[in-house]
Amino acid sequence: MQQISNEELSQEWTSLVERFSPQAASILQETAKEKSADLARHFYAYMLSDSHSASFLSHEQVKTRLSKSMQQWVITVFTPIAQIDDLQTVIDLQRKIGEVHARIELPVSLVLRGSRVLKERLRHLLALRGLSDELYRETICLGSDIIDLAIEIICFAFSQSHDRNSRAEEAYRLFSVSQNIGTEKERQRGALLDWENQLMFDLAMGNTGDNLPKLASSEFGLWFRHKASHAFQSSPESESILEYIRQIDTALQDIPDGQQPGSDHGLSVLREIRQQTRAIKFLLDTLFEQANDLEAGRDVLTRLLNRKFLPVVMSKEILYSRQSSNTFGVLAIDVDHFKTINDRYGHDAGDSILQQVATLLAGNTRGGDYAFRLGGEEFLVVLVDINPEKGIIAAEKLRESVARERFKLPQGGDLKVTISIGMAVHNGHPDYEKLLQQADQALYQAKATGRNRSVLYK
Ligand code: GH3
Ligand code: MG
Ligand code: MG
Repeated sequence: MQQISNEELSQEWTSLVERFSPQAASILQETAKEKSADLARHFYAYMLSDSHSASFLSHEQVKTRLSKSMQQWVITVFTPIAQIDDLQTVIDLQRKIGEVHARIELPVSLVLRGSRVLKERLRHLLALRGLSDELYRETICLGSDIIDLAIEIICFAFSQSHDRNSRAEEAYRLFSVSQNIGTEKERQRGALLDWENQLMFDLAMGNTGDNLPKLASSEFGLWFRHKASHAFQSSPESESILEYIRQIDTALQDIPDGQQPGSDHGLSVLREIRQQTRAIKFLLDTLFEQANDLEAGRDVLTRLLNRKFLPVVMSKEILYSRQSSNTFGVLAIDVDHFKTINDRYGHDAGDSILQQVATLLAGNTRGGDYAFRLGGEEFLVVLVDINPEKGIIAAEKLRESVARERFKLPQGGDLKVTISIGMAVHNGHPDYEKLLQQADQALYQAKATGRNRSVLYK
């Protein structure tokens, strides 16, 4: 999606409010300042009465924090632009709100519902001010237009973030579907060639129509229709390949019975099929290239998941814990004094230590857990179906497995290495960034209190 710049949006905002009188703008501002608590209260009362939106808002922290932010939001967007230092910061605020909404996967319909509630209440509050009819109408229009524009920016940022997340989600699916992309590519190119050769041979033998090998039911066709088109779902290349397969099989059907080998019609069909299979190969290469990039989404050094998959996994787990009574937790893990290891034994030794740490992390967690390398010597483990007591046992198990290990150095010999772990268990907050921050805080404590330990966020 095309990015709309903040300058463009500033202009939009400016020209919107310029259509209204300064008087309307100042009434709006006064109302917002005096009644922000009332607006926020009504907003929440209405939203919490609906079970669907309540699942996003009922968390205690969200209630207290969001009520304040809502009041602040009303005051900010209803500040006359003459009094705003930098309109772009106001716009940035809307974008940030949209990004949070995307992270918590808040349905856009709920945002629109919220904006409807606000507008309703605003109308009510303005009606109490004893304005002239004309000024009343003007102020209402200005207020509604500003809310609409702000919501528009929020939704725009939402869909951009959301697109990014769903691309990662697709990547994740593909990654779990086809593990060995390199060999599959060669095998399927070969299968396509086999089908082509068989076709040539059969045509040369004077076979026609139903007796010719169908691409859709060939080895390649079966693989593509059942596996690849699923893994590459929603990519235009995949759609085109499916279309080519259909076209080719239809063209084969059209070769009339009693066709002489080498006849004009047969040759022209053949030429066409040649071109179409060439196009399929080209599209296939493109698909596999994309798949390689995605495969590279695994951390190259350690083969753990990289941070690109973090939003996907976290959103899934949050959704899962909302639907069940199970909680999950995260471990923020950092290798202790890693810089010293690098300095003393060299970068290659450092890399090798990271690989060995990764192997221990992956080997000492359960199949349902996820291990990420976030970058440098920082790792993150997502522990599914866990409570604080079990979580800290799992964390200690990881920590001890590293502390016990004799890490091999490439130059020979071995080395002791330790890790520090900060653990946080999901408490129902819909924004996973909160959970990551809590684990980081706990990690910070683990470092500050001597390293080689696990600390639970409290
Ligand atoms: P602390 O116990 O406080 O975590 O100390 P530390 O030395 O581990 O912390 P710091 O974050 O200062 O050092 C991290 C070092 O990791 C710095 C950087 O050179 C190194 N590093 C980052 N990425 C890589 C990598 O991919 N390979 C190697 N070998 N080193 C890396
Ligand atoms: Mg570090
Ligand atoms: Mg470190």
